[in-house]
Amino acid sequence: MTAADVQRSPSAGAPANPVAAPANGFAPGTTARAQGFASGRALRPSTKVLPEHARGHNRSLVLQTLYRSGQLSRADIARETGLTRVTISDLVAELITEGLVVEAGQREGVRPGKPATMLDLNREAFQIIGIDLSEYGTFRGAVLDLDGQILSRADLPLDGAVGPDATAAVLALAERLVAATTLPVLGIGVGSPGVVDLGGVVLSAPNLGWAGEPLQGFLAERFALPVVVANDANAAVLAEHSFGGADSDMMLIKVGHGVGAGLLLDGTPLFGSRFAAGEIGHVVVGTDGGAECVCGKRGCLETWLGTPRLDAALAAATSDAQKTTILREAGQRLGIALAPVVGALNLAEVVLSGPTHLLDGPLAAATIETLRARTMAEFHGDLTLRMTALGEDIVMRGAAVMVLSGQLGVS
Ligand SMILES: [Zn+2]
Repeated sequence: MTAADVQRSPSAGAPANPVAAPANGFAPGTTARAQGFASGRALRPSTKVLPEHARGHNRSLVLQTLYRSGQLSRADIARETGLTRVTISDLVAELITEGLVVEAGQREGVRPGKPATMLDLNREAFQIIGIDLSEYGTFRGAVLDLDGQILSRADLPLDGAVGPDATAAVLALAERLVAATTLPVLGIGVGSPGVVDLGGVVLSAPNLGWAGEPLQGFLAERFALPVVVANDANAAVLAEHSFGGADSDMMLIKVGHGVGAGLLLDGTPLFGSRFAAGEIGHVVVGTDGGAECVCGKRGCLETWLGTPRLDAALAAATSDAQKTTILREAGQRLGIALAPVVGALNLAEVVLSGPTHLLDGPLAAATIETLRARTMAEFHGDLTLRMTALGEDIVMRGAAVMVLSGQLGVS
């Protein structure tokens, strides 16, 4: 996908329209097209839009309502969406024909008269491939259902592969996962370390030796399926929003070998002017120096918080008190780095994802204390900080959300 394609990606409304077709559910001619992860569009449509965008938008509205609420009657959907009964009947008929919505029995009415027919999203229509490239040394993948539950897994050790060999490993892992699916595949989602543009080109991922790697294009070409490649922390924040009950104004900090973040503002993912929003790992924290970083600067957030450095420091500590001091200092540095972000964006929630033995405890406590001390209590006092409940599967599940959002307009 070229830069021009990126600029043409839809700015509002309609997601790609999957029309029921035998092979993979997509209309002929659309199969090989890489589906960019729509930017600047709220994840969960909730209001009506202009007539020219209305149909696609209203389809997503109906699908989204069923996706989040489960079984509803046509009248329930009309009430929830604010659309007319006639519009709902029309859209539902279309969605049933396409196999995206199914009738799910009758609700015995409390009132006399004909019982209402219940509808649901056809949760057995598709499966999704989710791939996580963020773990050091191993690519992980899964087949997921439309509710983001993992049905089967596959891992591929990297054995130091970089550049084209790393790309070949992604393709090999995807091949195994596609072979493991038992329903048509809605699409392939990939969370990659580094900076990824909206066309799924990995602009820079030094650990994997990628610079300008068109990973999304390679996958789309190989599998003739919709593919979305995005930064791993940006994928993770979507998983937290869809499956972790996260607020719509929040930031997810992903701590591993490196440190990255994903941002949601008013339910809309934030990518930034050069697609590097959330890249806080190489922001220098404080003016008092610090350890030298791989990027050449001193005292980057990553030098305080990256897991290799923290694990080494803890291993060298001689007492529990010393370990607590190390973890508290890392937490304070994270708080110092985050306070201006929380203040500027008025975030409601910060979620931490990474090794629990490092993050959950003195480190998290020091982070929230520092944040509270450095922001205005009346606007930021109810800020919460917590660990993700999604564990190590967060990136794969977020990759599935990218596919769901891009293809069905639901999340
Ligand atoms: Zn650095």
